[in-house]
Amino acid sequence: MTYPALHMIIDGERVSGGGRRSHTVRNPATGETLAELPLADAADLDRALETAQRGFRIWRDSTPQQRASVLQGAARLLLERQEDLARIATLEQGKPIAEARIEVLMNVALFNFYAGEVFRLYGRTLVRPAGQRSTISKEPVGPVAAFAPWNFPLGNPGRKLGAPIAAGCSVILKAAEETPASALGVLQCLLDAGLPKDVAQAVFGVPDEVSRHLLGSPIIRKLSFTGSTVVGKHLATLAAQDCKRTTMELGGHGPVLVFDDADVDAVLGTMVAGKYRNAGQVCISPTRFIVQENVFARFRDGFAERAKAIVVGDGLAPGTQMGPMANPRRPDAIERMIDDAKARGATLHAGGERIRNQGYFYAPSVLSEVPLDATIMNEEPFGPVALINPYADEEAMIAEANRLPYGLAAYAWTQDAKRQRRLAREIESGMIGINTTMVGGADSPFGGVKWSGHGSEDGPEGVEACLVTKAVHEG
Ligand code: NAD
Repeated sequence: MTYPALHMIIDGERVSGGGRRSHTVRNPATGETLAELPLADAADLDRALETAQRGFRIWRDSTPQQRASVLQGAARLLLERQEDLARIATLEQGKPIAEARIEVLMNVALFNFYAGEVFRLYGRTLVRPAGQRSTISKEPVGPVAAFAPWNFPLGNPGRKLGAPIAAGCSVILKAAEETPASALGVLQCLLDAGLPKDVAQAVFGVPDEVSRHLLGSPIIRKLSFTGSTVVGKHLATLAAQDCKRTTMELGGHGPVLVFDDADVDAVLGTMVAGKYRNAGQVCISPTRFIVQENVFARFRDGFAERAKAIVVGDGLAPGTQMGPMANPRRPDAIERMIDDAKARGATLHAGGERIRNQGYFYAPSVLSEVPLDATIMNEEPFGPVALINPYADEEAMIAEANRLPYGLAAYAWTQDAKRQRRLAREIESGMIGINTTMVGGADSPFGGVKWSGHGSEDGPEGVEACLVTKAVHEG
């Protein structure tokens, strides 16, 4: 399977060429050009909007059986095409192909879950005297504009498409220009499974142009965005001008609390792999390791030793455990943040440098005793670096976990059952893993609080977020 030619999908048509501007898609492991991606102009976006309006009228009247059949059919096609899709994702994003295969399976699980959920979009009837009737129903919100980033090139588009389709909405997807073929592959599975062509489309473009155009249109009734907090705030402001609904899945700065009653080897055994998964370019990545002081030195040294042993390489090469970063902006940003931390007194125990002489590689890195005023302790690093600091007790550890305005995923390791409950209550985050790295699943809401955004994807909440409530009173 070679990398495919690229297009947009507007009104069921594969749109490319025609003098359009284009974006060069590159393999981050080599920097080599993979293909040129056509970018939408205003006329393309207007056509997509008109189509989405038509698509909404068709799909809001679809039966649950039709929606379930499309979602289950797409899940089957995803499995059939798993190897090709995973290879494409690794070519354009860099992650080890085993991780890309898991993304396909995440979509399969989510589409199958939503296929069941479409039969449970219940309303209710209120108690009223004879001759009167009051019913509460859930209706699809309308056409959705969905923006998916490059870090999960298959998983993010799956989330952005699955929920609106389950709810009976139409959707215009703008996936990241860096990883278009993966997004197109997921959409094609839905179309091949019988989704009407007007219901879901894919456009690419200059992100700010596309978002202003789509969010400036009254046709779009909901924004779903995954990406940085800075861009999220900007898009939420645009959406607010037309009172559009929003689901915002933004940045994080995952705290990991390691207490002295935890099994340190078990923590290292899972959290090191968790840290360097997808080269740390994960919104729920474990980032700030908040370690009780009497196990701090052992934890830090064990972490650094394991980080140095990680096999970094091309995501398609057998044995690769960590690939390159997805684009040249990421190693630049990590380099700046690590240099800043070192200049402020942090100690480097592993990595701290670019590696290999081509592509966007950065070594798995470990910093300790990082001052709180270092940029990296305050902004999402989104890269392969662990920050490990010692703390005296539970109170200080919770205070550090809650210090930042982010609140996406948090992790805690302790055997003390009462403390587990205190942590679950006190830590300000949308998701918390206690003695586990697993904080999601097709049936579980995924989302954050504070600057990490609002609303959830996955679970019943994912579909609910694409529905509005209507009360009908009959006298
Ligand atoms: P970025 O903030 O410019 O872009 C993030 C995503 O938002 C990209 O997919 C991009 O295409 C999109 N985007 C940017 N401006 C947009 C606009 N005006 N309208 C619509 N979409 C827009 O930065 P980046 O360099 O791609 O990534 C850097 C930061 O983004 C990371 O450090 C991380 O904090 C964040 N990020 C978060 C996630 C996540 O899963 N929450 C994913 C990718 C990136």
